[in-house]
Amino acid sequence: MNQKIKTWCEEKNFKIDKNLIYGKVKDVYFSITPAGNFTLFSFNMNCPSQNLESSIKEALKEKNKKIPRNMAIVKSINIPSNLIVIRVAFAMSRYKPEFLEDTIDTIINEAIKLGGAKNEKCIHCGKDTNNHVIFNQSIQTMCEDCVSNLDELNKNNQTSPTSYVTGLIGALIGAIVGGIPWVILLFNGWIVGVLAFIIGICSFTLYKFFKGPKSRVTANIIIYACSFISVVAWLIFVYGYTFMEAFNFEESFKLDYLFQDAVLPYFLRDLGVSLFIALLGLLGIHQKITTYTIPKTPKNVDL
Ligand SMILES: [Zn+2]
Repeated sequence: MNQKIKTWCEEKNFKIDKNLIYGKVKDVYFSITPAGNFTLFSFNMNCPSQNLESSIKEALKEKNKKIPRNMAIVKSINIPSNLIVIRVAFAMSRYKPEFLEDTIDTIINEAIKLGGAKNEKCIHCGKDTNNHVIFNQSIQTMCEDCVSNLDELNKNNQTSPTSYVTGLIGALIGAIVGGIPWVILLFNGWIVGVLAFIIGICSFTLYKFFKGPKSRVTANIIIYACSFISVVAWLIFVYGYTFMEAFNFEESFKLDYLFQDAVLPYFLRDLGVSLFIALLGLLGIHQKITTYTIPKTPKNVDL
């Protein structure tokens, strides 16, 4: 969060918890959190009207006329039990206090206008409660009984704890195996490794399967590093194989070969393109990695 946002939160008595901004406006709990190129606004309120979605879209569009580059576009609204969640198309790097505030006010005002009110019932059991928690990246009304039930459930699920070793092995195997389709294409004369983007996806899938640690930083470092290793290793393999094939496998391959003037530019070109495509694949699953590492336990809110 940038300094302007921090100052704004202090002034308004909003809180920042990692990437989540939360607080209370007109007695309604709201939260703001980045989700890839979008921002999720969630409001702890119910609204009976079917017209809520179109009204909010209309009102934000009206607001946008004053805001350059048309930053707030409602992408989707979903209203599960008493939680209005709205995806707006702007990235965290564009966060400005006045813009966030405008968006919050507009949405709450529209909901109230249409008969909406703050939610005072537990999202799980429906019991009246004034207890609020951070859960699933939003603020939710949840009674103390349901909170402790969820805690209990989590403890029971932790019979298979996460591990660096298995996570790393999984991510590496995933990245290497995920490289196979790309390498097959390379052997068949495709200069650019268009399939390199699945390397990161496979790496993350096995990282998760082998229960890699649920720390966002750790997960990202391991998955990016393994994908990088996979691309470099496979590309050396492809060049080495091609080299040996040219000599009918009578000559053994040495790394020096790659550094010859006639080879190096091509190797670097292929490496650059493939790493770039692999990176695109990784950026595409950014949100999935974040979701995997979000703690599943509700956290009490103090406001
Ligand atoms: Zn409950």
